Amino acid sequence: MTNALDPFGYATHEVMNQPPPLADYDAFGTDETLKTIVHTFAADGWRARLHEAGRTVGSARVQDLARQANRSPPELRTHDRFGQRVDCIDFHPAWHELMAMAVAQDTHALCWNETGPGAQVARGALSYLWNQGENGICCPIAMTYSAIPVLRRDPQRWQEWGKLITSRRYDARQVRAVDKTGATVGMAMTEKQGGSDLRQTQTRAVANGDGSWSLVGHKWFFSVPHSDVFLTLAQTAEGVSCFVVPGWLADGSRNRLQIQRLKDKCGNKSNASSEVEFRGAIGYLIGEPGHGIRTGITMNHYTRLDFAVGSAGLMRQSVAQAAHHVANRRAFQRALIDQPIMTNVVADLALESEAAAWLSFRFVVALDHEADSDAERLLGRIGAPIAKYWVCKRAPAVVAEALECHGGNGFIEDHLMARLYREAPLNGIWEGTGNIICLDVLRSMQREPNCVPALLDELRLARGADRRYDAALAAMETELPGLARQEGQARPLVERLAILISAGLLLRYASVAVADAFIMTRIAGGFAGHFGDLPPAVDGGQLARRAVPA
Ligand SMILES: Cc1cc2nc3c(=O)[nH]c(=O)nc-3n(C[C@H](O)[C@H](O)[C@H](O)COP(=O)(O)OP(=O)(O)OC[C@H]3O[C@@H](n4cnc5c(N)ncnc54)[C@H](O)[C@@H]3O)c2cc1C
Repeated sequence: MTNALDPFGYATHEVMNQPPPLADYDAFGTDETLKTIVHTFAADGWRARLHEAGRTVGSARVQDLARQANRSPPELRTHDRFGQRVDCIDFHPAWHELMAMAVAQDTHALCWNETGPGAQVARGALSYLWNQGENGICCPIAMTYSAIPVLRRDPQRWQEWGKLITSRRYDARQVRAVDKTGATVGMAMTEKQGGSDLRQTQTRAVANGDGSWSLVGHKWFFSVPHSDVFLTLAQTAEGVSCFVVPGWLADGSRNRLQIQRLKDKCGNKSNASSEVEFRGAIGYLIGEPGHGIRTGITMNHYTRLDFAVGSAGLMRQSVAQAAHHVANRRAFQRALIDQPIMTNVVADLALESEAAAWLSFRFVVALDHEADSDAERLLGRIGAPIAKYWVCKRAPAVVAEALECHGGNGFIEDHLMARLYREAPLNGIWEGTGNIICLDVLRSMQREPNCVPALLDELRLARGADRRYDAALAAMETELPGLARQEGQARPLVERLAILISAGLLLRYASVAVADAFIMTRIAGGFAGHFGDLPPAVDGGQLARRAVPA
């Protein structure tokens, strides 16, 4: 056949049976789980803002910016052409545009700028959504969010930085604080000889006698090195202490931080992570000298929880992409989503994603209430590391399976699945690897023994709704004291707790079908950890269809 476009009849084929891209949709409005969480946990007052963020992160524009920012990673310029140190990072403009959007939506500070029950949940929802937009920018967003409660404790530092780091005006200029309209915060803890064991910190701080200190040492992982201010650890006579280090000094010169090189990372390409030397960098002590790790842990509590929320967002994004793809592609005379094995896979993925969201957000709720309720504070203390461990551990498995649902298309760089796949293991590493987080769960039980009753009380709220859940809870009540003393068994313990907490939350808040399927497979059915294992008693079709963003 010939036509005006193909006058000689050379056309080989028509493009057919390829799904349209999932773009220009409202990632909040199409997420039934997130909407229920926001409603249940008193954050409905922010729904309009969440719809706005959902439309932003679901837009073709943001998807394209994320692609560009990851295809053109940041570059380090150490010197200018005259040989002077400049330590500048050059970004693709897409990075700054994405940062400006996320900051304008208050993703870094909503809960510090606005109060009221649900503010932490609303900010968590923004983070969950932005982790679906572009993960790289969620690193500075999470660090800025988490540093705010630490900096707020020091009136002088807060006076200097508070307004800038809570500002909704992103300011990419690398200049001194007084000339800026907004600022971001970085964190420099990890050194070559130890990232988990921060007591091995070698960087030294010497008092200058005018309230400032000079820091000498190195940091092996130093993300967002162009941030305006950093929290870092260094040794003083009293031991490891925490310091606030500005990127630029009051006279307009660069603080004495020399960036050695940028890391060539497996994923998280849009974000700059570096190695740095402090060569007499000026810093200011924050918190008690010798208690720097404790000060840092305050920040860790927030970042860890934010990474659980972020990984839940990553799961949602990959499951939404997979569900959309299989709903719009046919094989063997049927839509893929209606092929029984695929129905089972997508339903199982959706179940995992929903459980991860409830698990993460339950401990975000604890942040909203911890000031007034010791029970919530204790629950958050033990629950945040449980959620961080389990959700970050499940994300790579979910993303890999969701990628496979796309067939070959999922493995090609044009598709955002390839980026999500490379991103998925990262949240499990930083801010505490899996083993370290499990040790933290045991530590919470030993150092604050009231965490255990707070957790059991939470689990008991769902008692009576399902006998399989009740039996698992009774077993945990009996075994917990013994298991809590066995370091080598920490992973299976944390895994059991994570599944039990998730099941309890689904029983209380999710649909009967979701709770039943979760308990049937994750508690009663010898959970193998992969997907597509739902038994015939589960209505997989309904679960799979619900995951399609429509
Ligand atoms: C992309 C990226 C960006 C980063 N950005 C920053 C940043 O901005 N600032 C910063 O400070 N850090 C940053 N980090 C560093 C990160 O926080 C550390 O890599 C992490 O804390 C682990 O430390 P480590 O690499 O020294 O590993 P190690 O501490 O050597 O751990 C290696 C392994 O041993 C295990 N392990 C350690 N101790 C024990 C134990 N007692 N029992 C059982 N197992 C144990 C760990 O779980 C891990 O699996 C970044 C890392 C990455 C990958």
